[in-house]
Amino acid sequence: MKFIDPHVHMVSRTTDDYEAMQKAGVVAVIEPAFWLGQPRTAVGSFKDYFSTLIGWERFRASQFGIRHYCTIGLNSKEANNEALAEEVMDLLPLFIYKEGVVGIGEIGYDDQTAAEDKYFRAQIELARETAMPIQIHTPHRDKKTGTTRSMDVCEEHGIDPSSVIVDHNNEETVEEVLNRGYWTAFTIYPNTKMGNERMVEIVKRYGAERIIINSAADWGVSDPLAVPKTAALMLERGIPLDQVELVCYKNALDAFGQSGQMKEEDWKNAPGIDQTQLFQGNSVLRGGQQAKVNDPIIKN
Ligand SMILES: [Zn+2]
Repeated sequence: MKFIDPHVHMVSRTTDDYEAMQKAGVVAVIEPAFWLGQPRTAVGSFKDYFSTLIGWERFRASQFGIRHYCTIGLNSKEANNEALAEEVMDLLPLFIYKEGVVGIGEIGYDDQTAAEDKYFRAQIELARETAMPIQIHTPHRDKKTGTTRSMDVCEEHGIDPSSVIVDHNNEETVEEVLNRGYWTAFTIYPNTKMGNERMVEIVKRYGAERIIINSAADWGVSDPLAVPKTAALMLERGIPLDQVELVCYKNALDAFGQSGQMKEEDWKNAPGIDQTQLFQGNSVLRGGQQAKVNDPIIKN
């Protein structure tokens, strides 16, 4: 089976993770721009981070047989530093048209402050003007209110729900998000929040249409294999293969493919791995390591 992990912060992960994901069948990842744990103090840090997402990280993934895409945006947490947020907003148009950028994200609310609301709306406008999909981070605190509010605000700005991926849903939010016509994404956190078993129950109850799962793996406790592992559990629990494929591959492709920047041919027709390649003179290999060349990308 082939998988897409449409929310994973690969800059924080190791090459072992890339190798394990490729082996498990992950053909493509989407990396949303987000908070780095350490608050940034200068716009240059954002610029270099966005450049990493469309440059080095995209190359690094390719060296392990995975297609890398990203969404670009100002995360909700750092929207609260208004002086910096203004400068980041000026930067966004320089990046959202770059190759492999499949949306504006991850944006939305954290503490649901006035500043977060201001920059969420400004970025919704940017998405509307550029006809880009929107990837919404729903808050971990006061989730239900924050999720409803995120959708209300999108609709106030005239955004069609079919171009919005609402992320980090749970049992409390799923029904409203589906009913309102949005892509409804779930993050599989190890041990907490959405466990694999709970995800199986959600698909059994609501079906597979417009439901998407991701790992949201980052620098915290997380599992970059959450998508293939949950797919295996869904099959084991009797969910039909075509539904598992929708939730773990096809829906993400349809949702983010609306950007025109992500197509199945990208990995179906991709040349094999070639670790002799360089990015601005740099390799993923270290002294004396044997480069893998022409490993077919899709083995299953
Ligand atoms: Zn994230």
